[in-house]
Amino acid sequence: VVEIGQPEHSAVTTCAYCGVGCTFKAEMRGEEIVRMVPWKDGKANHGHSCIKGRFAYGYALHRDRVTSPMIREKITDPWREVSWEEAISHAASEFKRIQAKYGRLAVGGITSSRCTSEETFLVQKLIRSGFGNNNVDTCARVCHSPTGYGLSQAFGTSAGTQDFDSVAEADVVLIIGCNPTDAHPVVGAQIKRRLREGAKLIVVDPRRTELVRSPHIEAAFHLPLRPGTNVAIVTALAHVIVKEGLVNVAFVRERCDFDEYLEWAAFVAEERNSPEQIEKFTGVPAHLVRGAARLYATGGNATIYYGLGVTEHSQGSTTVMAIANLAMATGNLGRRGVGVNPLRGQNNVQGSCDMGSFPHEFPGYRHVSDDNVRELFEEAWGVPLDGEPGLRIPNMFDAAVDGVFKGMYVQGEDILQSDPDIKHVSAGLGALECLVVQDLFLNETANYAHVLLPGASFLEKDGVFINAERRIQRVRRVMSPKAGYADWEVTQLLANALGCNWTYTHPSQIMDEIARLTPTFKGVSYEKLERDGSVQWPCNDATPEGMPIMHIDGFARGKGKFVITEYVPTEERAGPRFPLLLTTGRILSQYNVGAQTRRTENSQWHPEDVLEIHPHDAEVRGVREGDWVRVQSRAGETTLHAKITDRVAPSVVYTTFHHPLCQTNVVTTDNSDWATNCPEYKVTAVQVSPSNGP
Ligand code: SF4
Repeated sequence: VVEIGQPEHSAVTTCAYCGVGCTFKAEMRGEEIVRMVPWKDGKANHGHSCIKGRFAYGYALHRDRVTSPMIREKITDPWREVSWEEAISHAASEFKRIQAKYGRLAVGGITSSRCTSEETFLVQKLIRSGFGNNNVDTCARVCHSPTGYGLSQAFGTSAGTQDFDSVAEADVVLIIGCNPTDAHPVVGAQIKRRLREGAKLIVVDPRRTELVRSPHIEAAFHLPLRPGTNVAIVTALAHVIVKEGLVNVAFVRERCDFDEYLEWAAFVAEERNSPEQIEKFTGVPAHLVRGAARLYATGGNATIYYGLGVTEHSQGSTTVMAIANLAMATGNLGRRGVGVNPLRGQNNVQGSCDMGSFPHEFPGYRHVSDDNVRELFEEAWGVPLDGEPGLRIPNMFDAAVDGVFKGMYVQGEDILQSDPDIKHVSAGLGALECLVVQDLFLNETANYAHVLLPGASFLEKDGVFINAERRIQRVRRVMSPKAGYADWEVTQLLANALGCNWTYTHPSQIMDEIARLTPTFKGVSYEKLERDGSVQWPCNDATPEGMPIMHIDGFARGKGKFVITEYVPTEERAGPRFPLLLTTGRILSQYNVGAQTRRTENSQWHPEDVLEIHPHDAEVRGVREGDWVRVQSRAGETTLHAKITDRVAPSVVYTTFHHPLCQTNVVTTDNSDWATNCPEYKVTAVQVSPSNGP
């Protein structure tokens, strides 16, 4: 029995794990966490939570926390603890030296979706106004950048259309490429509740996820497609809807560009897009596609949830637009119980995108080449700004390998573990002359760093996170930063050492600046958040109380845009050498690269990544349950324990990427989405063979 004592102080704050954004009361005894209590007034969770937010907070006090800045000349040197002044001054002088020697564009940085929106705003501001270029990107590059691109093409806004509560009025739930039970558990529970009340479920997933069949829930249709064929399946659903006269023509005429619709309808109606034709390569029986299409179009309010199983493909953006087409064609937008809902991965990935963490966009998704917008920021920040888009994350690694990109500031991301094709990432990081990593721990990326700046956990700072339903919620400091500074303060120190003259004394001032410069945040302030608890952007003069449901009267871009979504097979093909397709995902107890959850009690439930393999594929390879297997792809190889299960279809294998030693991303390839460079984590051709272990 552990005596945890009575709390002495507390604050209501927001979970730092997934994009659901559950609210908790953090109860503290001095600098110790007594417990995290799910907050009944939390608008995203209504008092619910999962085992990550509720129990996996021990990492904040873990002995592995970096508590002193460190520097080293070469990455083979040992780390040397130094003062904050020396570390910041060294980092700034290195960035200045590199720019003087190699040019303005030779440095850049990556913002963190784990940090607050104010912190990501400051990092992009530092890069734009301190480095003088747009070489800033965020981990959304590797997860939901296709959502940003695809939804803004279709609707004019790069975000989900609904609030989570809206599912209570859904009659049909279509889930594509996501597993909310594990990855977004509180939303998963909301969906389950609605399904138990009688809503019908369609699941499009290569794997039989728990939602397909669980107590009291059975999907009406499970479409177990071959990885990489999303576009074909969604277009075939549209084919049935168009050919069988199930289009909501009144909605389309009123709300969408009708000429584009006609062109699109003619395209999807072509025989090559029929369920019978695509069955040949998707592996999904045509009658299931026909049944699912009829249910989605005629079953009442139909809502779509999708995740990284949609976006992390070479056609990720195309699938997002195909999903938007489906919702527009059936009129399932602009009211409760319908919509298109991307389940964003990280706690603040929506916020980091909103804050201009992309190389082509200022905060509020405004292109850097727009003279009027640039002038607005130039006037506010007092420096000329670059109108050319900068480098995306993979292009930074390419440029580093090519010798033209030499310095990088990475805040709160472990890109060496999270990004695909680790060999290429290592080569890029290894070629840098100055890598500054700001993190809670000495992560994998820090192996290549020259300066390590201690990060602060969500319990050590004030700010906001923005969840997958665009809800802006406060993060409140309940303990002092372990190394003395919150992340926004460190960025300010670095910016000022580079010659900026920032004088923020509290994150509320940063939010005030965001509100001044970003029309969708114009009405947001800490005062408002204190008063109302949270607000869903856009929050401005037109919608002072925010907007739970978007596109009620019209789309942000005017008329909704139907885009022709031609299926183009990925270059990653199974063949004699690599006959199986590997796809990846997450499990409930762990989180992404596991930097936090592995340092909590949750690690006992999933101590390693394992390879799920179908009984037939295991048998022909002589693999038994629990055996070591070698997983080889054209990018690399790793060794995992085998788990034999018919949750995966024959010829498909599955694993997670929570543990660095398992090195899942050694085997993933450098294929990426045609529009956004989002990596194709979900399709890797592999061979699996018995092994004696790593
Ligand atoms: Fe945190 Fe997501 Fe779990 Fe909620 S569902 S407690 S936000 S990890």
